[in-house]
This record gives sequence, C-alpha cells and structure tokens, in this order.
Amino acid sequence: MRKSLLAVVTGLAICALALPSLGQEQIKWKIHDRNRPLPPVVDPGTASTPDVPGRAPSDAVILFDGKDLSKWAHKDGSAAKWKVANGYAEVVAKTGYIYSRQAFGDCQLHVEFAEPLPPKGTDQERGNSGVFLMGLYEIQVLDSFENKTYADGQAAAVYGQYPPLVNASRPPGKWQSYDIVFHGPRFDASGKLLRPARVTVFHNGVLAQDNVMLTGPTEHGERPPYKPTPEKLPLALQDHGDPVRYRNIWIRELKSAEGEK
Ligand code: MG
Repeated sequence: MRKSLLAVVTGLAICALALPSLGQEQIKWKIHDRNRPLPPVVDPGTASTPDVPGRAPSDAVILFDGKDLSKWAHKDGSAAKWKVANGYAEVVAKTGYIYSRQAFGDCQLHVEFAEPLPPKGTDQERGNSGVFLMGLYEIQVLDSFENKTYADGQAAAVYGQYPPLVNASRPPGKWQSYDIVFHGPRFDASGKLLRPARVTVFHNGVLAQDNVMLTGPTEHGERPPYKPTPEKLPLALQDHGDPVRYRNIWIRELKSAEGEK
C-alpha cells in the first residue's frame, strides 16, 4: 500500500516537472525577448459592405478586383470567358472552370460571391459553383438559403467530406464571403503522405469549418485517396452551369509559422 502510494506521488512529481519543459521546448526564444524579430506591418484594408467591396490587406495578391479576369485562365490556358460587368465576374455556363494563372498552396483566401436572383432550380442545381483549393479540394458554393440538399454538399461544405458547422447563408442576390485558411498536403520524395490538407472556413464571418483534416481530393460520389502533388497548384472556380457571381478575390500565401506542427 505504502509502496504504491509512493509510486503515485513520484509519478505526479515527474509529471509536474515534465509539463513546463514541454512548453519551453516549443519556443526557442526567451519570454519577452526584445531580440525576437517583430512581425511585418500590414495595412489590414477595409471590410466589404453590401454595395462596396472592401480593400484587401496590403500584402495580399489581388486575384480579381472587379475589372478583369487577367489573373485567370481556362484549363487549356485560354483567357477566361466568364462575363465581367459592374464589378463582378459571372459564371458563363459551359465555358469551364477558371484557374488562377499563379499556383498557390498554404494560404489565406478571401472570396465573395452572390447567388442568382431570382433563384432557379433546387437542391444541387441551385446556384452551384465552388472554390477549389489547389484545383483539387472544393469548398462548395451553393444557394443554401432555404434550399435543402445533402449535408456534405451545401454551402461551405468541404464537398463530400464535411458539412459546415452551421448554415450561415444569405439570401440569393446578397453578397456573401468565404475566408479560408488552407494548409496543403505534404508528400515525401517517394510520394508517401506526410501530412494531410487542413482547412478552416468562415462563411459570412461565421466559423463553418474548424481546421478539418481532408481525406483527399473532393469528388462527387467518392472519396479518392491523396495522390502526390506539388506544394502549389492553381486555385480554381467552378462552372457548374449556374450564373454565380464573384467579386473581391484576394489571397495571402502562408509560410510555416513558429509553433506550427
Ligand atoms: Mg460545386
């Protein structure tokens, strides 16, 4: 009895000693070290209003500012044929997905979209489009305002994998936003998966995906495994045949941060 009590006390003491050192091991700087580099200064820009798109942070890459789609192309490299008018780009059915000319991996992405008004169709046929991170991982764009579909296919779902935590959709015709934090997958030289992709999504400022781990690329009707890819690939917007509008698209590339695992 006494022996086991001693063992417990010793065990607790070891735990108490070990815990603080865990924290210390993860940070190489002394607390409040004034030699520690300060973060870069960024002008945060402004938030959008229903009528006026906001201004992007000063270190963002502007992918669409309402004027032209010169930063985008179709899969064959031809100029984007989607309609541009009055500060927005609108999907033109059967022209195909558009891809950013620049490739991106880990990123913070801001996208605004508006669903067709009046709404047309039901279920997956109402205002369907999508934001494809690395052209492979879809955050669903759909008119999910009073429009029922399957949970992992509604607006802000990781398509076919994770329903959003809530349905924060605005009515058709109103501007909506996705703010996405994405960490792409990593593979070793032999193509073995070292880390899966993760994504966080705010829909209209409301948390919809909380750092979820993707099972692989998103597809309709299946969950295929990862295939090795480069760390960066073009971002894509989906032509699903519905005239969804986009505006104010910007992206910030993320470097590995201190404390990131
Ligand atoms: Mg879609």
